[in-house]
Amino acid sequence: AEKLDLISKCVRTFQDFPTKGILFYDICPILKDPKALAAVTDLFEEHVRHTYPQVDLIVGLDARGFLFGPLLAQRLGVGFVPIRKKGKLPGLTSSVAYGLEYGKAEAEMQEDAVSAGQKVLIIDDLLATGGTLHAACELIKHQKAELLGCLVVIELKFLNGSEKLQSTPVFSLIQY
Ligand code: 5GP
Repeated sequence: AEKLDLISKCVRTFQDFPTKGILFYDICPILKDPKALAAVTDLFEEHVRHTYPQVDLIVGLDARGFLFGPLLAQRLGVGFVPIRKKGKLPGLTSSVAYGLEYGKAEAEMQEDAVSAGQKVLIIDDLLATGGTLHAACELIKHQKAELLGCLVVIELKFLNGSEKLQSTPVFSLIQY
């Protein structure tokens, strides 16, 4: 509870960013506070060791999933794989288009990054409408990997994003 408190205090909001009508949750103060960032990694590590000891890979989403994912993967002693916005990754890739809370995008992954049967957890900073995580789940399933679940620092419950993810469990540290 102490760690969650510390993390919560490092989340601030901005009205009308990046477009009018959106309340944006800014996680940058977490990164700036080494104790808060360690607390995020601690709580994710605890949850994964307890619930998913079999995990093979952490897959992180562009761009803020890249900030938390590699720290967690290192703690767990497993690898990290990035899912990027389209056009950034060389070699053979697969991609999925999706809608956002604000705008549209396409998520892309290298075909050789995740193999069939590997047990995967997806990580991002925030779950809003669920469009982004849903696209990532589709990419993982396309690779015939075993999707264990999703991890996010913040879940915006009122947007019901976890419903879009159907049977894939979502673990969040902070809920609004
Ligand atoms: P969704 O696809 O669930 O609607 O939106 C989640 C994605 O958009 C995540 O990749 C997340 O980084 C970004 N996002 C949407 N709203 C916010 C927000 O309020 N704060 C932050 N930090 N990211 C957001």
